Amino acid sequence: RSAAQVYRTCASSGSGVGKRYLVTGAAGFIGFSVAQKLRERGDVVVGVDNFNDYYPVSLKRARASVLRDMGVTVVELDLNDLQGLQELFRLCSFTHVLHLAAQAGVRYAARNPFAYVQSNIAASVSLMETMRMQKPMPLLIYASSSSVYGLSKQFPFTENDRADRPASLYAATKRSQELLAHTYFNIYRMSVTGLRFFTVYGPWGRPDMSVMSFSRNIVNGKPIRVFKGPNGTELARDFTYIGDIVSGVIGALDTAPPSADPRVPPSFRLYNLGNTQVHTVTEMVETLQELLGLSAVINYQPLPPTGDVLRTNANITAAREALGYAPKTNLREGLKQFVLWYFDYYGEDGKKIPADEVGYIPD
Ligand code: NAD
Repeated sequence: RSAAQVYRTCASSGSGVGKRYLVTGAAGFIGFSVAQKLRERGDVVVGVDNFNDYYPVSLKRARASVLRDMGVTVVELDLNDLQGLQELFRLCSFTHVLHLAAQAGVRYAARNPFAYVQSNIAASVSLMETMRMQKPMPLLIYASSSSVYGLSKQFPFTENDRADRPASLYAATKRSQELLAHTYFNIYRMSVTGLRFFTVYGPWGRPDMSVMSFSRNIVNGKPIRVFKGPNGTELARDFTYIGDIVSGVIGALDTAPPSADPRVPPSFRLYNLGNTQVHTVTEMVETLQELLGLSAVINYQPLPPTGDVLRTNANITAAREALGYAPKTNLREGLKQFVLWYFDYYGEDGKKIPADEVGYIPD
């Protein structure tokens, strides 16, 4: 059934001349948001996701259902299934691949290292192997992360940083993914754009990340965990609103060189997509409490020994110049949008929790 749907979706792009986008991780937070935006502007979009249970699957199903209602075909497939992937490309000759599927999360990696190798390294190779065999070869736009800067102290983080001091297994696998993509450009002349996202939040966000998990605990009167070092040092993040990230991804798509034109040389590009305004976790919690109209019970804990870097901050000059990227949503406005969605999704009192989310405790 899904093969027929993929076929029909792609046929609607008009005898193969239009653009056809494959979005991996389409049931995930960012993949969903990007696929939604592409569809809204009338593009032909096929999504793929393995619906893994790293966080409650009901949220992934709900996102996929929104996409299906809009005319996006969402196929349940693990990217490591090479045959399945090849079949998908046979049904639809994609012009662009937006690779947003990954095993995310920094702390989960300590206990589940192989999930990261499988989903961030092996699955990316599986995808790029399939892509390089297509004629014409589609363009690749893939998600990387601010975490690749790891222990670097060169603030703000700039793309020419060596990014060779990862502080987590997650970061190491995202950096490996970048190197692999660079290799496919070098060997097969695949056009590649890497986007390093900085702490993304907003409507339909991830329940394992602080904005969502804190909101849930605050609404339910449960304590939240905030890390603090000896001199009051705490984690500070370049929180970036999902709408701005989506604009950056679309900017990357729309400025990518056409893949079908043999006169245009392939390109390798890499950009930070952040906000540039850095906020401590305490500042984020204060704003969240105000917007929720509730007080948080805060449990302070010593800084985690590994994984989380202390501070992230993006230099976005390159993306600004090449992609026209211009983030315009500050933390307060972005959190306001998030809170509105939260009460829409979880009911007026924010307590209408789907069965698989009851008792869910993120790492
Ligand atoms: P997410 O976990 O919500 O989405 C990822 C999706 O990929 C999930 O739905 C998951 O089921 C799917 N997936 C994982 N492994 C798969 C596989 N082997 N085959 C098919 N599907 C698979 O995460 P997100 O926040 O939407 O992140 C999207 C991308 O952005 C990821 O590459 C992530 O590393 C990157 N990123 C996210 C952030 C952030 O703050 N959210 C920051 C930096 C980078």
